[in-house]
Formats: sequence, C-alpha cells, structure tokens
Amino acid sequence: MKEIVVLSGKGGTGKTTLLGSLACLAENKVLVDCDVDAADLHLLLTPEHRSENEFRSGVKARVVADKCIGCGTCQELCQFEAIEVAQCATVDTMACEGCGVCAYFCPEQAIHLDKNHCGTWYISDTKYGPLVHAQLFAGEENSGKLVSFVKRQARQVAEEIGAELLLVDGAPGIGCPVIASLSGTDIIVAVTEPTLSGWHDLERVLDLADHFQVAAFVCLNKWDLNPQMADALANHCRKRDVEILGRIPFDPAVVTAQLKGQPVVLSDSLATSAIKDIWSALQEKVNDNCLSLAVPKVTFPGVLSRNEMRAG
Ligand code: SF4
Ligand code: SF4
Repeated sequence: MKEIVVLSGKGGTGKTTLLGSLACLAENKVLVDCDVDAADLHLLLTPEHRSENEFRSGVKARVVADKCIGCGTCQELCQFEAIEVAQCATVDTMACEGCGVCAYFCPEQAIHLDKNHCGTWYISDTKYGPLVHAQLFAGEENSGKLVSFVKRQARQVAEEIGAELLLVDGAPGIGCPVIASLSGTDIIVAVTEPTLSGWHDLERVLDLADHFQVAAFVCLNKWDLNPQMADALANHCRKRDVEILGRIPFDPAVVTAQLKGQPVVLSDSLATSAIKDIWSALQEKVNDNCLSLAVPKVTFPGVLSRNEMRAG
C-alpha cells in the first residue's frame, strides 16, 4: 500500500479542493482527513458515519468534594492557577493542564485525574470510498496525537478491505499535526499559490520533506493570477530539485463546486482537466522509483528505518 499526503504550508491554498478531487479519481483507496483542528474534507465528500468514537487524551483534575478538607495545598502548588479553594477545592478545567501535581500532593487523595474527552473520530462511508476523520474540540490540545491515531485507524481499514492507497489530507502548517500526517508517507504533494506567503509556506513544507527525506512534488494552484511569480516559483523548485506536478488555473468552477458541496473534478472545467493531468502525473510517481527517495538515508540508534519497519 502506498501513502500520499497532500500538504500546504498554510490553510486556504487549495489543499482540500485538490484532495477532494483526487478522492474521485483514485481507485481502491482509503481517505483520511488529518486536519483535525478544522476538518473540512467532509463538506466535499458528504460522509455517512459508520462509527462515531470518543477520543480521549491527557487528564484533567477533579476534586472529590467529600474527601476535601480545604487545606489549600493544591491551590498553592498549581502553576496554572486552575484551582480555587473556599471550603472545598474546585478546578477550572479550561485552565487545568493535567500535570497531576495537585493529585500527588493532596493529603486526602481528594483529587482524581480523569482522562480528557477532547474530540471525536469517525469511520465513514462516502461515494468515493471509506473516510477516516476526526474533530478535536475547540481549545483542546494533542492534535498531533489524534492525527497519528486517525492514520493508524485508516491503515487498519485499508488492510481490512485490501486498499492499495491511503490518500491523506494533511494538516496545514508545519507543526506537530503536519509531522504526524506525513509519518510513514511515501509522497508529499505540496499545494501552493503564486504569492509571497504561498512561496514562503511552500519552502517550509519542502524543508520538512527534506528533513524527513520524503519525496515531495508541487502543485501550483491559481497560477495564472500571477504568472511571473508562478514561473519564478517553478524555477526555484527546479533549483531545489523538486518537480512541479502541474498547474491549476484560477477557475470560478471551483467555488461553484464548493458551494454545491462536491469535488470540482465532477464538473467540466479548466480546473478539472488540470487536476486530471496532475493525477496522471502523480500515478506515474507512485509507480516509478522516485519513492526510493522516501527511504531515510540517516538512521538513529534504536530507531528502525522504514525498510526495517516494513521488513518487520
Ligand atoms: S489539597 Fe486536597 S484536601 Fe487540600 S484543598 Fe486541595 S483537594 Fe482539598
Ligand atoms: S493537574 Fe496540574 S494544572 Fe491541573 S489543577 Fe492540578 S496542579 Fe493544576
């Protein structure tokens, strides 16, 4: 099974638009939405939930009022000012970071650390294949952990149905959730646009791909809004030895499709034909030996390389 992750250095470059269309074009695959902080792939793919599950991570302190003697030790020790003590201690769960200090030092063992319910993950069916996705609740942390979890579930679903491809909508940016989205991937498709911020954010994604030694390719979205900068970006990619898979023109059909809640590739449009070309080019990359680039050349003591992991 191969894994392709579509990334962008920031949100709004067309990453999910492209992924939604690739979902229509690719066969025998499982779809994954790793943008768990602001999931939106479901808006294009209208999934029907097969299972809906709680995601719990980290802990929050909870005071058992019957046991609390109001000594104030927990309030003194909490570095996050999450506890107030009147007659009895109370915890502000929004402020609690789950460090556990209060529970450890409470003389009455009156504080319990409860697993934190911080999101929901789903296995769903779409017209285009199974989709594994999730939504972290507002203000919750650990999105990297949820992304890793979602990817593990997706791999399991893929194994069960014998899928040959995992098609992943990565998280935007380059932080922990992005690193979690690209772990174990074979190919990164970086979507960018011909703007200074697009260029800057593409650089960050390509640096990340270099760091983790994953083969990366670029799609230039809305290239015709600034052809000079698009050409300069393409030249820059050539210098970095990064291939441009294709250019997608600005096309109002994309917005029309989004408003209808469907992938643009279902319409007859300029963007559709560009995306189809990109998919053809991408299939060639998946099949040719460019993936040897994805094998880390550097290994660290105690850390298995991808080949070693695959060999079991
Ligand atoms: S340390 Fe324990 S007993 Fe003392 S106020 Fe806090 S919860 Fe109550
Ligand atoms: S677990 Fe840590 S952050 Fe939360 S209330 Fe206790 S001491 Fe404060």
